[in-house]
Amino acid sequence: MLEMARPLLINIAMLFSVLFIWNMVMPFRRSTSINLKKKLIYGFISSIMALLCMLFPLETFGETVFDLRIVPLILVTLYGGGFAGIICMFTIILMRLGMGGEYAWVGVLIAIVGYIISLSFYGYFKRSIRKWRVILLTGGTFMLFYIAIVLTLIVPLKAYFYPIYFTSFAIAYFFIFYLTERLVLINIQLEETVYLEKLSVAGKMAAAIAHEIRNPLTTVRGLLQFISSNTEDEKIKNYAPLMIEEIDRTNKIITDYLMLIKPSKRDYEVVNLNKVVKDTTNLTEVLASYHAVKMQYEEKGDFEIHGNSQELKQCLINLIKNAIESIEEKGLILITLQNGIKKGTVDIVIQDNGAGMSEEQLEKIGLPFYTTKSKGTGLGTMITIQLIRNIGGKVLYKSKIGEGTTVTVTLPTHN
Ligand code: ADP
Ligand code: MG
Repeated sequence: MLEMARPLLINIAMLFSVLFIWNMVMPFRRSTSINLKKKLIYGFISSIMALLCMLFPLETFGETVFDLRIVPLILVTLYGGGFAGIICMFTIILMRLGMGGEYAWVGVLIAIVGYIISLSFYGYFKRSIRKWRVILLTGGTFMLFYIAIVLTLIVPLKAYFYPIYFTSFAIAYFFIFYLTERLVLINIQLEETVYLEKLSVAGKMAAAIAHEIRNPLTTVRGLLQFISSNTEDEKIKNYAPLMIEEIDRTNKIITDYLMLIKPSKRDYEVVNLNKVVKDTTNLTEVLASYHAVKMQYEEKGDFEIHGNSQELKQCLINLIKNAIESIEEKGLILITLQNGIKKGTVDIVIQDNGAGMSEEQLEKIGLPFYTTKSKGTGLGTMITIQLIRNIGGKVLYKSKIGEGTTVTVTLPTHN
């Protein structure tokens, strides 16, 4: 009985160490889409985990082999999806067939069952905010099938084996997922801290300069206007509007920036969100039709939140403008106001069918001065995210190159 403890510990230790190294090399995230290269790497690493498990089986009675290989299979299928999972599954199957023996096909069956079960929970896992519920459901369902298969298809083994093996399997399963979830959380917190740090540096810098620059700019703009209106000089007449335009742009950057630092907590009030969103949609409609973009607005309920309607409008305008600007032709923007997934929250969803963003671009969005536009400031999204955070909300981007972008602003409702 005790002889099972050692290989069990080895199995778990190996799974843990590979998991840690994996996280070091590619920090785990809750990404909405994983590209092909990553899926291949996921499949490859989980295959190594499974192979390592199979090299150190917990128990071999006759021609049976018991180990934890299915744990990495479920792990990779839940987090990485079907393609990554199938790589791992085939590795397990090939290895098991290679090892041979009377029960090889039972091993193949178990791998297929494990894969199908995790794949059927994959969509739910991705969407759910209660990840643990899905993790336990997947593990539980698999265990039922696993026990049934082992009991019916493999000749009775020593009685003490069953409870020990299945308990060890469950414990290992639990710990591996616990560790993975912890790592994901730690990574998210770390990213958040880095992001906030970058923002605070940007904010402080702005505070120091913004005011000082604005006043002389206003003077220069006034003088320029004056000179250009009272002149016969062609050069001045031609270039003055350009100069004024540039000054206005500079001014806009400063105004945007100042919104960030302005302590506006005291102006918070109960805001009718339906009205704010409708107003913003109307405001941006002109710009949209200028770009031949259609806008549709739908509201599913009445919502009130605690915040500042002016700031909220600014945020929504920023997001809608980005949506409009991402569209080349046949543009359609859907704006929906609906209940959030969590109770007591409301979602404002802005969906466009524009250019979309790659994963690398998605990572950079919200950083100060990140822009891909020749006349962009790269401040809109940063300010939006910051203002939404101030009232306890979140901004989530989902995007696919060539298909479009969906921005979800989640806010706590007022009650
Ligand atoms: P700016 O609009 O001045 O470039 P933003 O902070 O508003 O600055 O946006 C930063 C960048 O994020 C944009 O330049 C663009 O590349 C990308 N982006 C933002 N929203 C969208 C969207 N809806 N679709 C595609 N790309 C977007
Ligand atoms: Mg913008």
